[in-house]
Amino acid sequence: MTQAVSRQALVGACNDLLQPARFKDYGPNGLQVEGGDTIRHVVSGVTACRALIEAAIDARADAIFVHHGLFWRGQDGTVTGWMKQRLQLLLTHNINLLAYHLPLDAHPEFGNNAQLGKRLGLEVQGSFGEQDLGMWGTRADGESFANALDLASVVSLALAREPVVVHTPDREIRKVAWCTGGAQSYFEAAIASGVDAFITGEISEPQAHLARETGVAFLACGHHATERYGAPAALAHVAAQLGITHQFIEIDNPA
Ligand SMILES: [Zn+2]
Repeated sequence: MTQAVSRQALVGACNDLLQPARFKDYGPNGLQVEGGDTIRHVVSGVTACRALIEAAIDARADAIFVHHGLFWRGQDGTVTGWMKQRLQLLLTHNINLLAYHLPLDAHPEFGNNAQLGKRLGLEVQGSFGEQDLGMWGTRADGESFANALDLASVVSLALAREPVVVHTPDREIRKVAWCTGGAQSYFEAAIASGVDAFITGEISEPQAHLARETGVAFLACGHHATERYGAPAALAHVAAQLGITHQFIEIDNPA
């Protein structure tokens, strides 16, 4: 039987799990848009885009939980155009919006990085980079990858997407570092930590040269594709704790 809980109970349980106060972030974590007081059904997704909000309305959700919320440092602060449309849908339908950015990347069990590592069959052995967000480890089965293309085939099977790979042929891959989303700027820290390959969502121009010059393989596997797993894992856990229902809604994104 579906329970109903208060909005405060939902936000409290999410904050307890993800500990947003521990992070310096680019936008507010936690409740971003206040909706109704009573929560029965919650929807998770990657980004608070209009398509997700519309799908959550169809699903009769009381709250949406995302990795990429509506508000980021550097916005001009006006409510016009696409921002007005998204906010109007949320407010008209009294839907709460909760967003957790870096806290959701970092959670050791339900976070984007932990969940991606699990899907790729990697065992975490340490962390690296700013705020210790990046993870590194080796194959959980103790084997190594023959080369970066071998690792890339595991990625494309797990994520149903072909990664962009810059690598040195014939280099065996034992230690792998990864950080989901747009973490290409973590590549130098990954190189410094002594790994053979780095996995993230996106690549920018400088990383291709660094990969060639250092011999550390760079795999860009999709910002969205690498960040699809944290939100449903975390929210499913919270929903089970509270006795409310949860569904993940995938809005495809080629980026
Ligand atoms: Zn992201």
